[in-house]
Parts: sequence; structure tokens; C-alpha cells
Amino acid sequence: MTLRVYDSMFRELVDFQTREAQRAYIYVCGPTVYNRIHIGNARTFVWFDMIRRYLVYRGYDVTYVMNYTDVDDKIIERANLEGIPPDGVTSKYSKAFEEDMAALGMRSPDIVVRATEHIADMVEAIAGLIDKGVAYDAGGDVFFSIEKFPSYGKLSGRTLEDMRAGERIEPHPGKSHPLDFALWKAAKEGEPSWPSPWGPGRPGWHIECSVMSTKYLGMGFDLHGGGSDLTFPHHENEIAQAEALAGTEPFVRHWLHTGMVQMESEKMSKSLGNVELAGDVAKAFGGEPVRYWALSGSYRSQVTFSEETLKDASAAYDRWRTFFFAARHALGDDMPAVPVRVRPIDSEVDGGVGAEFVKRFVGSMDEDFNSPEAFASIHELVREANRVLEPAQRGEAEARAELVSYTETFLELTSLLGFQFDAGAGSSRLLAGLVEYLLELREEARREKAFDRSDRIRHKLGELGVTIEDTPAGPRWRLGAGET
Ligand SMILES: [Zn+2]
Repeated sequence: MTLRVYDSMFRELVDFQTREAQRAYIYVCGPTVYNRIHIGNARTFVWFDMIRRYLVYRGYDVTYVMNYTDVDDKIIERANLEGIPPDGVTSKYSKAFEEDMAALGMRSPDIVVRATEHIADMVEAIAGLIDKGVAYDAGGDVFFSIEKFPSYGKLSGRTLEDMRAGERIEPHPGKSHPLDFALWKAAKEGEPSWPSPWGPGRPGWHIECSVMSTKYLGMGFDLHGGGSDLTFPHHENEIAQAEALAGTEPFVRHWLHTGMVQMESEKMSKSLGNVELAGDVAKAFGGEPVRYWALSGSYRSQVTFSEETLKDASAAYDRWRTFFFAARHALGDDMPAVPVRVRPIDSEVDGGVGAEFVKRFVGSMDEDFNSPEAFASIHELVREANRVLEPAQRGEAEARAELVSYTETFLELTSLLGFQFDAGAGSSRLLAGLVEYLLELREEARREKAFDRSDRIRHKLGELGVTIEDTPAGPRWRLGAGET
């Protein structure tokens, strides 16, 4: 068995081949932190959270990096609008983003990188590109010269003519080609700026991502994700910068892009008010039903956001929840706990009657994360399990054994998808004790400057769905979407 993904670079399904065996290094373009995120953006983040979880489930050791763009025209505009400094804007909306992520059951990335904390790295990269003759200083603005990078356009499959026709080109007297893009923007009055060999200014958006991704993940990392609207020019430019600077390729092994969300919010706003922001949608429908909506359609396809599609998703999600409570009622003390399980690619799936559904589920997900089929296999499992509920409750031994197996599989697969039907119940005291003990060990490691060890603890807790937030009063934690 292999995992196959639809790679945007090759425009076909390819085997997922990582740089190191059973390790996956992922970078996803995160938010520009100047407003609350839209449900369309949120779906992209929910999906990469899912892909990360699935890779862990299939036995990969995953490192997941996301950036926050915290220097940008839109941030400066927002700062002027709200009458607060730009870093006030970015801290306010970073926090809002994290709340929305948690509301939709997303785990924190292993590493969150902020552009403003990596300006020196970007200046160094830009200087390197100038040294290599692929970038030039045009009076304080620095541009990348696309004609010096012959494979420019390979990701989007566009010719230079297509690109010129399709894009709004910013005119600049110093540009040598109209499609040359800014690596460094000279400071304007009243804007945040940093010193550089070309005068004070700030980095362009594209250089942020290629510099920070390779800094943490190295050249040739495994998976770069984002919405399909970022393919051109953003990801095309990232490739040009990284590969021209390193003098090697590939920058990234696999490019994955999520489909766009078709909004029918006009119709919705008549009955529900304006629900386009992810946080508002989660409040209106509940985080888990919205997560169900986001994941039940294939990540690559365009999906519709409407009252109808959300209600359908809620109804389908309720069938799962109803089954969970019915099984718990029928099984009593025999109710299985959520199994913490990995199923490495080449492992055998065996066991009771649930095993067949695990096989179907992974068979679907291994094929480019085919979630419509994977979700259908869980619904099929629930239908089968519902048949044995009654005899199991009457105490028939065979039916009980089957129901235990179905329920265990149900919990394995739904918790993998990020649903927590049992949130807060049962073993929560034990869990809290263990997490707090690990956090103590992490603090100890940090005091000893053993950052390797403290990072490992954070990484592992992150993989298990524990979000850690460092506050002045010490670390706080919560479980994915669950309550603290
Ligand atoms: Zn990016």
C-alpha cells in the first residue's frame, strides 16, 4: 500500500514520497493577521489539520509549520482604521485566529513562525539572490528577475503571456520585466520598517514563506499546502526564490491545494444574519458540525457554503452522535475508551467486525484523502452497529461483542477526524494530571536550556491534540476543540 496525493505541480495523482522514511515535513501558508478569518480560509486550515492527523495515523512523524503574516499593507490599513499600532492589530487577530482554530477542532501547528521575527533571515536571502544575479535593487525596492529563472511558471503551468494577461501588474519605473515581483519594499512614511543594505523597508509577502519554510524544514521538504488561489503568484514565486537561492531543486516535494468555497451567504444572511466568519459559523452551527461540513467534501473540490449544506452536515453528524450515546447506554461499563492508535502504511488491519471498516476507511483516505468515501464507510459502520444495539442491550453476548468492536472502530475513526463525542467525560482527571506532569517536565527542560527536550514534549503533546499556550503565569493547555 502507498499513500497517493494529487500533486498540483504534476497535475496528477502521485505516490507520496518523503525525503526521510516515515517523516513528513509540512508547511502551510497561514493567515495574514488583520481580521477574523473567513469560512473559506478556515476550510483550508481544517483540511491541512486533517492531512497532518492522517499522516500521523499512518505512522509518519510529522512536523507541521505555519506562518502568520504580520507585516502587510492590509495590517497597516487596519491599524489606521482601528487607531492602534500594527503590532496591536497582529496580536489581536493572531489570538482570534487561534480561537477559531480551536473552535473547529484544529490542533496547533508544531511551529508557528511570524514574519517580523525573521526579517534578518529574509534580508540575508535577498542579499543572496542579488549576489546570484537573479534580483536587483531598484532605488530601495528590490525585485526578483523572473527572466533569470527559466522554469518560472512550472507550478501554475502558465506562460509569461498568460501571467501578464491575468494579473494586475504594479507599475514601477525600475522594473526590468513587468512580472518581476518585490522582495523588499522601501519604507513609506509612517509604516513599520527595518534596516537593510538597500535602505529601510520591509520584506515582500512571498519571500517570507520561502525563507521561513526552508529555515525550519530545509530544502526539499515534503508537503507545501495552501488554498488554490495561492498557486499563482504566491507559490510560483516561493519556488523561484527558494530554488534560485539554493541552486538546487526541488524546493518542495509535493504541492497540495484546497478548492475554493462557493458562498451562498446572501441567501443565508436573510435567515441567519451575516455568517461568513469562521468563528460566527461555529457559534451558529457548533464547531463539530462545521468541521464535518468542511471535511466531508473532497479537499480539492469546490464546495458550497449554504444553509442547506450546513444543515445536511449537521444532520449527518447527529447520526454519529446519536449512535455514540446509544452505544454508551447499551454497553454501560463495557463501553470502550477512545483508542489511541496508529496504523502504519504496511501494517495489517485485523480484529473484530470493525476491522473491515478500518480497511475501507484507510483505503479511501490513502487515495488522495478521499473523504466522501471515508465518511460513507463510517456511516455504513453505524448502520451495521445500530442493528445490534437492541440485542446487545438485552445482554446477548455475541451482539455485545460486535457492538464493542463497532464502537471501538467508530471511536478510532471519528477521533482521527477530530471529533470528540466523549469530550470532558470519564478519564479527564487522569488526563489532566498527566498533561500537567509533562508540562512540568517541559518547564524544567526549558530552565536547563535543554530546548531539544522541551520541544520534543511540546511536539508530542501537539500530536496528541494538546494545545499549549505560554502565558506570563505559566503554560496553559487545552484539548483541541475541547474545553480547558
Ligand atoms: Zn505563503
